[in-house]
Amino acid sequence: MIANSDGAGGGPDAGSSGCEGAGDEEAQVIVVGAGPAGSAAALHLARAGVDVLLLEKSGFPREKVCGDGLTPRSVYQLVRMGIDIDAPGWMRNKGMRWVCGGHQAELDWPRLGALPDFGLTRSRHDFDDLLATHARATGARLRTQVKVTGPLTDRAGHVIGVSASRGPEQEPVNYRAPLVIAADGASARTTLGLGFERDGRRPVAAAARRYYRSEARTHDPYLELWADLRCPRTGRDLPGYGWVFPLGDGRVNVGLGVLPQQRRRRPVDLRAALEHWLPRLPSGWGLSEENADSPLRSAPLPMGLNRRPQYRRGVLLVGDSAGMVSPWSGEGIAQAMEAAEVAADIIALALARPAGPRREHALHQYPAEIERRWARYYRLGNLAGDLVFSRYGFRPVLHPRVMASPPVLRTLARLLTHVTDEPAQDTVDAVLHGLLRLVPTPRR
Ligand SMILES: Cc1cc2nc3c(=O)[nH]c(=O)nc-3n(C[C@H](O)[C@H](O)[C@H](O)COP(=O)(O)OP(=O)(O)OC[C@H]3O[C@@H](n4cnc5c(N)ncnc54)[C@H](O)[C@@H]3O)c2cc1C
Repeated sequence: MIANSDGAGGGPDAGSSGCEGAGDEEAQVIVVGAGPAGSAAALHLARAGVDVLLLEKSGFPREKVCGDGLTPRSVYQLVRMGIDIDAPGWMRNKGMRWVCGGHQAELDWPRLGALPDFGLTRSRHDFDDLLATHARATGARLRTQVKVTGPLTDRAGHVIGVSASRGPEQEPVNYRAPLVIAADGASARTTLGLGFERDGRRPVAAAARRYYRSEARTHDPYLELWADLRCPRTGRDLPGYGWVFPLGDGRVNVGLGVLPQQRRRRPVDLRAALEHWLPRLPSGWGLSEENADSPLRSAPLPMGLNRRPQYRRGVLLVGDSAGMVSPWSGEGIAQAMEAAEVAADIIALALARPAGPRREHALHQYPAEIERRWARYYRLGNLAGDLVFSRYGFRPVLHPRVMASPPVLRTLARLLTHVTDEPAQDTVDAVLHGLLRLVPTPRR
């Protein structure tokens, strides 16, 4: 069995963040969950001078099941937030290495206008702690070991805060605010009972990861991705890919993510698939049981913008709680941080208006802005997932002819990771923007 985790486990509360505050508290905005979505939202709000409470059920530092890979889009957000990415602990990568059908290709991140030309890795154990600490230093009131149990609503059904249990004693407590950001990850518990619907047609993928000590790979300058994994039971192509991400601290993060297989109800056995794949990797990498540095853990990947609307009755959804994981790649950190910044900007402007219809109108700009920026990209990704990835995996896309064509591969890599600039900086940007313009905007 793989230990299943919905994200964070309650870890020890080291350092400054802690279960503090005097019980019931008030703020202008409550953010539920201090993952990348919640901490980024709290930080941007605090920067805008908004009084914000950031509630997190765990203590920091704590584990979060993830591949720990950050593309240039994530790096861009970290820099915007003022995170010191030159400090020790960050491992830079210059691109991705794709392996498929006996071929491999290295694809460097492009030099664009705004996006940096490198990616990063950092274990979520450190990463989430760092972001939450930074949000706190910017002015957000961080309360850890506070588990939100549900929304508080007024008679009209508008949210006026959240109920929670606090600390090891699970003391019941209420936090009040006219606006709540649900950044509580895949569980999306805060949204229950508020009429946010999950689109049942959108698949929820599953992914698992394990850390290994590997001096041979820990300083690899590329994120390595294997696209031709097979199901050990049937021998068919897996609808997903495997990764080996270097962490630079003597370890690598090894894992795989898969979409539910079309026409097959049985979920893929991630442990068996990993055990089937690892012997294909060079033995010199040392990815063996004796070098394992953690158990194998799995978690769901809610993707394709699967929960709508992203604003209703005083609650905004950001990150995994809105199913913002990319259906192209399974990444969700950049998407969570970008949407958090959009949400924070819109809230700051909305709060400048008096409570009532004018403020509500401003808040409804959040789903509109999410649609404007990303709906076409997600829609095309959902289509690709339904028609290709979930049926045949990535092997048909990474056909030997594609693997042998650097321009095609570069375009594909930029599409999968959404590494494009606006306005277009190069031909690939122009091609991708043109392609996305052809996608009809989803009905709202
Ligand atoms: C195996 C795996 C590998 C992945 N690899 C990558 C990768 O390499 N790169 C990438 O970009 N993405 C990756 N992802 C996706 C990425 O992990 C998520 O998209 C990202 O964490 C979403 O951030 P979030 O803040 O929305 O949610 P989370 O990171 O899940 O944060 C939610 C927070 O809310 C807290 N919380 C939950 N419920 C409550 C409650 N009731 N009260 C208070 N707090 C609560 C949780 O403790 C947690 O801290 C991977 C996912 C998996 C499962």
